[in-house]
Amino acid sequence: MTDIPEWLKSEMKSHECVFCNSKADIEGVAGLGIRNSSKHKGKTVFFYEYRCPKCSKIAILELNPMSVEEFVMKMIDEYSNEEVPDVSVDKKANKSKGSGISKEDISKFKKSFNKVKNWDEFLSSLGYTQDEIDENKKIGERERRDRLGGKDV
Ligand SMILES: [Zn+2]
Repeated sequence: MTDIPEWLKSEMKSHECVFCNSKADIEGVAGLGIRNSSKHKGKTVFFYEYRCPKCSKIAILELNPMSVEEFVMKMIDEYSNEEVPDVSVDKKANKSKGSGISKEDISKFKKSFNKVKNWDEFLSSLGYTQDEIDENKKIGERERRDRLGGKDV
């Protein structure tokens, strides 16, 4: 399994296979999860499914219970150790891609938008047909009635 958190790798150093007692090896981790502990009643613990590379037997190994705060601290440590990905923008690439909307498109839209006098015209400027606008009005009225407890007002 890949992407095993660093903190788990260090926890595993003290673990061993329950069948052959060989030292736990990250190669054997087949899955990770959280469950109710079988050793500590009422506690939720982090566990991993372990297939021992030496004896091939499978066991579920639990970590010691930890508080939410401890768990969060481990997570924060994990991510603060990660390399920050390079997010510098390639300006050339950015220029050629663009958004696909030109300044002309925007000014055209603004002009037509300024002419809009009412809600119907606004919707039709967005591409709604008159039928769709009428249908939406009916739905809107129905919802309003339902909100007011079915009373027509
Ligand atoms: Zn083993």
